[in-house]
Amino acid sequence: MEERKIPYKIYLEENEMPKAWYNMRADMKNKPAPLLNPGTGKPLTAEELSPIFCEELVKQELDENTPFIDIPEEIRNFYKMYRPSPLVRAYCLEEKLQTPAKIYYKFEGNNTSGSHKLNSAIAQAYYAKKQGLKGVTTETGAGQWGTALSMACSYFGLDCKVYMVKVSYEQKPFRREVMRTYGASVVPSPSETTDIGKKILAEHPGTTGSLGCAISEAVEVAAKNPGYRYVLGSVLNQVLLHQSVIGLETKTAMDKYGIKPDVIIGCAGGGSNLGGLIAPFMGEKLKGKADYRIVAVEPASCPSFTRGTYAYDFCDTGMICPLAKMYTLGSSFIPSANHAGGLRFHGMSSTLSQLYHDGYMEAVSVEQTSVFEAAEQFARVEGILPAPESSHAIRVAIDEALKCKETGKEETIVFGLTGTGYFDLMAYEKFNNGEMSDEIPTDEDIAASIAKLPKVQ
Ligand SMILES: *Cc1c(COP(=O)(O)O)cnc(C)c1O
Repeated sequence: MEERKIPYKIYLEENEMPKAWYNMRADMKNKPAPLLNPGTGKPLTAEELSPIFCEELVKQELDENTPFIDIPEEIRNFYKMYRPSPLVRAYCLEEKLQTPAKIYYKFEGNNTSGSHKLNSAIAQAYYAKKQGLKGVTTETGAGQWGTALSMACSYFGLDCKVYMVKVSYEQKPFRREVMRTYGASVVPSPSETTDIGKKILAEHPGTTGSLGCAISEAVEVAAKNPGYRYVLGSVLNQVLLHQSVIGLETKTAMDKYGIKPDVIIGCAGGGSNLGGLIAPFMGEKLKGKADYRIVAVEPASCPSFTRGTYAYDFCDTGMICPLAKMYTLGSSFIPSANHAGGLRFHGMSSTLSQLYHDGYMEAVSVEQTSVFEAAEQFARVEGILPAPESSHAIRVAIDEALKCKETGKEETIVFGLTGTGYFDLMAYEKFNNGEMSDEIPTDEDIAASIAKLPKVQ
């Protein structure tokens, strides 16, 4: 089909924004495996989950049958502050690469948190407020989730306690100050403020922390403080649900101009931006209405899809969270502190894990120096300084476009540009100084943490 003249930026009107989130699980024949209670080994019920999570979010977490879930008006109004986000045709990058491929990216960095995480943060804060809670606790790695959540909490007048992975707390003091400006309290993890933090510190003195440790601490604090619940910025089904606004807007924008993507690419940490971006496209694929190549990109230093095991595992290092069946490197896996670019979680969304297991999507891992090369190339022609996480997707989008150059195929590529990199300039500095290295875990490293997987079938 001949394409109509495509602008550099496709903006939607406010009234073209989705009014409901799309729940991919409703259209999956093989549903993702349920969360299990680590004590009993049985699927977790709403009653068991509600002391830790907000009630409405528990419902969303467990709902695998309702395809569309209405977005409450208060949330839609908040979305309007920074959405719809643009779908950009990367004409300048195409020109630079001299590729016949058509490259698009959905840009989610247009808000103060600098990433897509605000899409779920505002939803989670809304449901906590509606339930009459005092506040929420959470963990943050690179800091984007904590920032997004502190913005959302200040909007609804909720208290926000953030456990920040120690290495990031030290390397990213600016992100910490943004959170404090929005009224959040920020504690470096592991800390002496929780039992689990004390235990982890005793076992691994001087550890720089991991997302898994920080999750354990945040959950402990939520469980011990009345009026508090724990919220999570990725991995969970509810987060993928909220992030479906990314994909729904992308699909609407593409349909408007008669564009059909051949390849959809996203970086994958816990899987939320990717799950959100692909949602409506995967829906068509699951129903046999259309076919797309879908590619998850992960860091070679934390390769859960490409080198992990599909098994039940803990979501946290402290082993107090539910068990999720997912591609995992083992909850005791801690990626090298040298790894600069986020995407540090040991596991992967159970929904994406099931889809990957069933052959609906592919995964590749990339090394961080090549990721920063792609980031630099992109920044110089497209004008946006990308987040290191997002740059994993840029790397593979460029690689796909270069393949098209060889084959002469005019493929349409769309990737998720999840955020901006202004708070990641220490990593850029390392790269610019030629001091960045690629730390890849050995098979023995991975086998050691896999050996500690819980014994569940
Ligand atoms: C958190 C984050 C990611 C990775 O998380 P997912 O849940 O896998 O999407 C990617 N990019 C940015 C900018 C982030 O902040």
